[in-house]
Amino acid sequence: MTIAHTLPAYGIYVDGEWKTASTGATYTIPNPATEEPVAEIADATRDDLRAAIIAARRAFDDGPWRRAARMDRRNVLYAIADGLERRKDDARRMLLSAAGVPQAMIGVQLDKPIEMLRWYGDLAVKFDAEQVLPPVELAAPGGVRVCTSLVVHQPVGVCAMIPTWNGPLIIIAQKLGPGIAMGNTMVFKPSPLMPLIDLLVAEVIAECDLPKGVYNLITGQSPDLGQDLVESPMVDKVSFTGSVPTGKRIAETAARTLKRVHLELGGKSAALVLDDADLDQVAPVLAAGVFIGAGQGCSRTTRVLVQEKRQEALLEKMAAFTQKSVKLGDPVDPDVLVGPVIREESRRRIEGYIEAGKHDGATLVLGGGRPQQCPRGYFVEATLFGNVRNDMKIAAEEIFGPVISVIPFRDEEDAIRIANASSYGLAGAILTRDEAKAIAIAKRVRTGNVSINGAYNIFGPIGGFKESGLGREGGIFGLREFSEVQCITW
Ligand code: NAD
Repeated sequence: MTIAHTLPAYGIYVDGEWKTASTGATYTIPNPATEEPVAEIADATRDDLRAAIIAARRAFDDGPWRRAARMDRRNVLYAIADGLERRKDDARRMLLSAAGVPQAMIGVQLDKPIEMLRWYGDLAVKFDAEQVLPPVELAAPGGVRVCTSLVVHQPVGVCAMIPTWNGPLIIIAQKLGPGIAMGNTMVFKPSPLMPLIDLLVAEVIAECDLPKGVYNLITGQSPDLGQDLVESPMVDKVSFTGSVPTGKRIAETAARTLKRVHLELGGKSAALVLDDADLDQVAPVLAAGVFIGAGQGCSRTTRVLVQEKRQEALLEKMAAFTQKSVKLGDPVDPDVLVGPVIREESRRRIEGYIEAGKHDGATLVLGGGRPQQCPRGYFVEATLFGNVRNDMKIAAEEIFGPVISVIPFRDEEDAIRIANASSYGLAGAILTRDEAKAIAIAKRVRTGNVSINGAYNIFGPIGGFKESGLGREGGIFGLREFSEVQCITW
């Protein structure tokens, strides 16, 4: 096999330098649509990670970065955004070949986060990082003393940035943007499944005017890397995006050193189809919204709630639309909407859920198997279940695959109750012609984000209620998460 030698190979980025892993070890990333290797990645060790943490600590404690002028931090973020703009074709190729992202999603996966980095750059300048509080009177010997307080948002320190692989640039931008804007230093440890976009960002940063040690990137397969990063007493904060079980483990580990913890976790979001919603309009939105990218998104509305008497009609329309317009295959085909799932293990996990759905008595309306036209690659058919009860496994747990559960409700009160009967609280959707009613219902839905009729604001705060997370990303909310509040009184 000579192919391994022709693969693009990547190192780790520590203290302003590209290096190989200290053992020289590497691992390969497959194209999930073809199972062919696409890149060779440095398989870093715990010692490599330690060197990165030390570099970030030193850069924070002894370097000029945390006192850098706001305009300098803004300029760094603009330079990163400009560099990414220039590398968009490379990023596009990586998303297609290593993440199975369909071409219809790539624009939003690249353009919005680049815009977002500039927005964080502007916020670095505009953010009101120092506020004077109204004076207070203090009884003091010999009279009254008037005290003034200055509230200062300080950087939090060394940040462990642990993202997952789906929508990689958006997740990176939501950590890098506020992290840099507030003057923190950081160690990124991307998902071993797809670290290519993280590596491309590192290549861009290496060309920017950022003091060494401020930004470090460690790739590797060992779960010890993430665990060590969270355990390290040299790290002040963890910003994590991933699953609920890992998030809980991180919170437990971080508690030992009382690190600041920010968790963006999974979801099992519900779309409430109200009685006045036009089924012809909503059926395609509901089906495509989950199936595109093989359902590998945190906020997908994988529970569709519809009035009992309209369930049959909705299922028919969703199935018809999917069969006619939702093409499955290798995302090099621009018409493909459902690409592969990221790995064989993910496919097997999803298939386990499909079996559970059948076993629990849900009606399999569409899909449920492996597509015959794709003998290679980790594909799962777009799968639609009807007559799902909210306590079934397929409705209670996040599948992270192309599987929709349609759940009938009696009336709106029942719909709200079902939507809220979940351990998750990430997102939700309401489909109706009556926006005022939708807003009133949205306020009763216990999730961090609610979309009415498909509206979405990538610059708003995002995050979860309940087990879907802790803290918020997005703009000012994100900046606050990456700062410590200090009160100076005189
Ligand atoms: P995961 O929890 O398995 O892994 C996420 C990251 O954590 C990876 O980088 C992994 O290497 C690392 N990790 C694993 N064990 C660790 C440990 N003990 N300590 C520290 N780090 C550790 O999640 P995944 O399967 O990669 O991602 C899918 C999940 O991410 C889904 O639940 C999805 O909903 C969620 N997600 C959430 C958001 C959001 O914004 N809320 C966005 C995207 C994805």
